[in-house]
Amino acid sequence: MSELHKFIFEGLPVRGMLVRLTDAWQDILARRASNTTTGAYPAPVRQLLGEMAAAGVLMQGNIKFNGALVLQIFGDGPVKLGVVEVQPDLSLRATCTQVGEVADNASLSEMVNVNNVGRCAITLDPQDRLPGQQPYQGVVPLFGDRGEKLENISEVLEHYMLQSEQLDTVLVLAADDQVAAGLLIQRLPVEGEGNLAGKTDSVEREAVLGQSEDFSRISILAKSLKREELLTLDAETILHRLFWEEPLARFEPFIGETGPRFACRCNRERVGQMIRSLGTEEVEGIIAEQGQVEVGCDFCGAQYRFDPVDAAGLFTGLNPDVSGGSVH
Ligand SMILES: [Zn+2]
Repeated sequence: MSELHKFIFEGLPVRGMLVRLTDAWQDILARRASNTTTGAYPAPVRQLLGEMAAAGVLMQGNIKFNGALVLQIFGDGPVKLGVVEVQPDLSLRATCTQVGEVADNASLSEMVNVNNVGRCAITLDPQDRLPGQQPYQGVVPLFGDRGEKLENISEVLEHYMLQSEQLDTVLVLAADDQVAAGLLIQRLPVEGEGNLAGKTDSVEREAVLGQSEDFSRISILAKSLKREELLTLDAETILHRLFWEEPLARFEPFIGETGPRFACRCNRERVGQMIRSLGTEEVEGIIAEQGQVEVGCDFCGAQYRFDPVDAAGLFTGLNPDVSGGSVH
C-alpha cells in the first residue's frame, strides 16, 4: 500500500518526510498502458512522472493548505506536458502528454528542455475559490544559477523551495514501473536568523550556526540514500539506516484510507462544460463528422460520449443526460 511518513528531529530545526507510492503509482501506469491511443509510457517518461508524483505528495504533505497542489513541467521536447495533482486528502492523479519519440536513455532536458525554455510550475488551487480569485502559482526554469540545464526534477524543486519559501530543502526521488518514492528533508526557519549578520551576542550567534550544522549533517545523510535503496527498501529500513544516530521522532503514518491513492476528479458535467466552451458551430461540425462527441480523460482513461441529443442539450440547458455515468 502507498504510504507517507512524517518525522522531525527532536530539538533540531529539521523536519522530513518519506513517501512510497506502490498501488497508487501502479494504478496510474496501468491506466495509461490500457489506453489504446497512447500505450504505456517509455521508461524515461515513467521515471520523470513517477518522481513528480512522489514530489507532489511530499509538497502537499508539507503545506497547510486546503486545496489542490498541481505540479507541472512543460517545454519544447517530445514530452510536451507532465501534470501531477495532489488533493489535501493525498488522493492524486498524473499524466504526461507526449508528442514525439523519446529515446530509451533520454535525459530530462532531451525530454522537455531542448532549448532551455522548459519550465516547472507549482500551483496551489484553493478548494473554495472565491469568484475572481486566482490560484497561487510559482514558476521556475529548468536551469541552474549559471544557466546550466538541470537533469533532475529534484534539483528543480529544491530551487523552487529555496526561492518561494526561503527553505533549504533536500529532495531524493526515484521511480520505476512498480514504485515512485521520495525523501524530503527541510530546515525549519529559525527566528531572527535573517539578522545573523548584525548579531553581536556571540552565544545567540553560535546557537543559530549550530542549528545550521545540524541541517548540513542530516542533509548529507539524506543525500547518501541511493536510488536503488529508495525503490527497494521499506520506510522503516530506510529511516533506520540513514538516521539511526539522530533523535528521530515519527508521526503516525498515512497509509490506506488516509494515505496517497489514485483518484480522478473528472465527471460528465465538467466534460460537458468543456464541450460547451467549444461553441455550437464547432460541436455541430464534430457531430456531422463523427456522429457524436467523444472525450477521453487523460488521467484515468474514462470515455465520455455525447450523442447529438446530449450535445444539443448542452446548449439549450435542457440536457436530459448531464448526470449520466461515464463509460469506462
Ligand atoms: Zn478522469
